[in-house]
Amino acid sequence: MKTQTRGKKITELNVLRARHLTALPWLVHGFSTRTGGFSSAYGKSDLNLGFTSDDARSAVERNRAAFLRALGATGRNRLVKHSKIPASGQTGQKRGTLLWPLVTLRQVHSDIIHCVDSASGELQTGDLQTGDGLITATPGLLLAIQTADCLPVILVDPKHRAIGVFHAGWRGTVQRIVEKGVGEMRRHFGSGPRDLRAAIGPGVHECCYEVGEEVRTKFESQFPYAAELFREVKESDPVREKYPLLFLTARAPGHGELPPKLFLDLVEANRRQLVSSGVPAKNIDASPLCTNCRVDLLFSYRGEKGKTGRMMAVTGIRGD
Ligand SMILES: [Zn+2]
Repeated sequence: MKTQTRGKKITELNVLRARHLTALPWLVHGFSTRTGGFSSAYGKSDLNLGFTSDDARSAVERNRAAFLRALGATGRNRLVKHSKIPASGQTGQKRGTLLWPLVTLRQVHSDIIHCVDSASGELQTGDLQTGDGLITATPGLLLAIQTADCLPVILVDPKHRAIGVFHAGWRGTVQRIVEKGVGEMRRHFGSGPRDLRAAIGPGVHECCYEVGEEVRTKFESQFPYAAELFREVKESDPVREKYPLLFLTARAPGHGELPPKLFLDLVEANRRQLVSSGVPAKNIDASPLCTNCRVDLLFSYRGEKGKTGRMMAVTGIRGD
């Protein structure tokens, strides 16, 4: 996946794409970054794509339209009646440019996956469905997942021209959202796991994803390889290192050490889950970017203490 060089301020709209998906001419896909937008709630010229409480709705709508244009998700598709589809992502467009309808969810860290087509309820009514995964084989729709640390995962079946996008934080991952996504694509479209290509977008990486012991317990109850997903780091306290005797006398014997910090590798967790679902390892591409390390380029819930925008992972199918 394309990475940005650090240092120089990035001002234009940037879309990250996976190379093995770019090769498919019928596919639209991309992971947004925070640069090149119209929001000022979290920084200058941010591309916030989520209707957050801090940001102006009009700015988010302009951002969404700009992002869709950058993706090339424009033009009429005879299979989808655009006129019936309500405003999400549709406003702020230039005259003459028709943006594809954007299908979003009310995400709740679940394992709920919706199969959508042009007749789907949400598209007709504008009401958001609750869930954390979307799949389709209908051209002209853009399936979207919003994140700001959690991993977005795109699945593509080149054989049947079917796609999916999933929201995988630790809760979704422990509920096997991507494994269920592979299963749902098989059930609805006849997708074979061997044919699937996966792209894991930017998210919080092992370097920055400290979790509690209860998270490890949950993973251990689900996955035989759980131990390999966690890293323990002994806390180094500069004051204690400088004055060891002070702490030696203050603490009872055997209690001299702080408990180690625990870090989860969510990328590896989802990669392993895809592989054990039958997706070949060579078909899985993961972004090297950590959201918490790169708040210059990406939104990070942890990195910005909860006050942050949302990025989108989107995928769609071109029609004729
Ligand atoms: Zn990091």
